[in-house]
Amino acid sequence: MDTISTAGETLYVARDEAERGSEAPFYVAYHGEERRDRWGYVCGNCEGANIAMDPMGRIVCNDCPNRRKPTEWDAAHE
Ligand SMILES: [Zn+2]
Repeated sequence: MDTISTAGETLYVARDEAERGSEAPFYVAYHGEERRDRWGYVCGNCEGANIAMDPMGRIVCNDCPNRRKPTEWDAAHE
């Protein structure tokens, strides 16, 4: 499992758990390899963890233009 370091923490990146983004997928990141403790998302475009989420379901990377639009994308995909 891939790891990245951010703010002194090691995060485990689940490459098989992704949300579609405008530039690249957002991957789910966990505190541990066993995937019990979910941390949030990691940007697949810049590999950064500086991600903002809002209650509308939007996911926005603060370090690059990658972003996931809210629900209408999901409706088209599921
Ligand atoms: Zn990014």
